[in-house]
Amino acid sequence: MSSILIYAEVTEDNYIHTVVFELANKAQELSQKINNAEIIALLICKTGLSENYKEAFSNSGFDKIYIVENDRYTHYSTELYSKAAIDVISEINPDIILIGATTQGRDLAPRIAATMHTGLTADCTGLDINEQGKLAATRPTFGGKLMATILSRTLPQMATVRPKVFKPADKNNTKNTQFIYKDIDISSIKRKVEFIGFVKTLNSAINELDSADIIVAGGKGMKNEAGFELVKSLAAKLGGVVAASRDAVEMGLAPQSIQVGQTGKTVTPKLYIACGISGAIQHTVGMENSDKIIAINSDKNAPIFGICDYGIVGDAFEIIPELIKNL
Ligand SMILES: Cc1cc2nc3c(=O)[nH]c(=O)nc-3n(C[C@H](O)[C@H](O)[C@H](O)COP(=O)(O)OP(=O)(O)OC[C@H]3O[C@@H](n4cnc5c(N)ncnc54)[C@H](O)[C@@H]3O)c2cc1C
Repeated sequence: MSSILIYAEVTEDNYIHTVVFELANKAQELSQKINNAEIIALLICKTGLSENYKEAFSNSGFDKIYIVENDRYTHYSTELYSKAAIDVISEINPDIILIGATTQGRDLAPRIAATMHTGLTADCTGLDINEQGKLAATRPTFGGKLMATILSRTLPQMATVRPKVFKPADKNNTKNTQFIYKDIDISSIKRKVEFIGFVKTLNSAINELDSADIIVAGGKGMKNEAGFELVKSLAAKLGGVVAASRDAVEMGLAPQSIQVGQTGKTVTPKLYIACGISGAIQHTVGMENSDKIIAINSDKNAPIFGICDYGIVGDAFEIIPELIKNL
């Protein structure tokens, strides 16, 4: 039977990373195109921790969870985790392996791919199944000027996917999930690095963007600090947060931590208002999955109008104060 394996990343805070549930939701759609492939998770964690996650897995449409527990898995380690992953993958032989393009996933996925002599499409922003039943993984290429859809010649077909590209299911998809414990012998595996401590960088702007329902973003068209103050005022009026295009960041109007796009954050708020942003693909790839997009731009031919739900053609310096007044 065909199967799709998702790596169930556990964070340093002992949460299952949200990208796992985003991938689980996408996998339901992919599974239907390959004879209802089984959706399987691979969980590697310290002893006893898996009990905390079982309900969440059962409610997220997983058919099976392979669990490898050991106290040596308390913190992520390339050598120890890849040993467990490769042993389980060799046993299941999944058609597709999906891993979040997180710091951990970006370390683990290439190690698995290299050991298993298979291809890996990294940092994907789209996944589909083509007419031949193959995984069609899409990612930006040529410095983000083009989107390439890549097929793997080898099995398993592997992809890492950026967090927030897909949405988690909005309701429970409860299954009679089977939990399978695996005992992997890691006694002979030596770590090349020792874990000393975990230092968390506190970047509230990044966390705010991740969870914001409303984002007001400013681009080069906001021209100067006074223009960006308008963007901030509109965000404040709506109870939202501020984001920026790369050009606005390069002009010194906003910090890089709030840049949206290919080399910034991927966001999926309920409402995204793009002010003075042209809509270059490197920007839209980071916000096109927002529920509703409103664009304010003085150029009626700006590409942003091709992807927005509502477009306002005009001078943002006149329109934003008017919007604030009416709100
Ligand atoms: C490898 C690579 C990675 C990149 N990564 C990113 C990324 O992560 N994020 C990102 O944003 N970009 C990224 N870029 C840059 C991207 O290609 C664009 O250059 C950038 O998004 C343009 O920013 P902008 O829309 O603010 O500026 P512009 O393209 O200059 O657009 C400004 C817009 O403002 C409008 N405007 C001007 N005056 C007004 C006014 N008074 N009222 C209303 N509208 C007005 C104009 O009509 C225009 O459409 C990347 C590029 C490369 C090559």
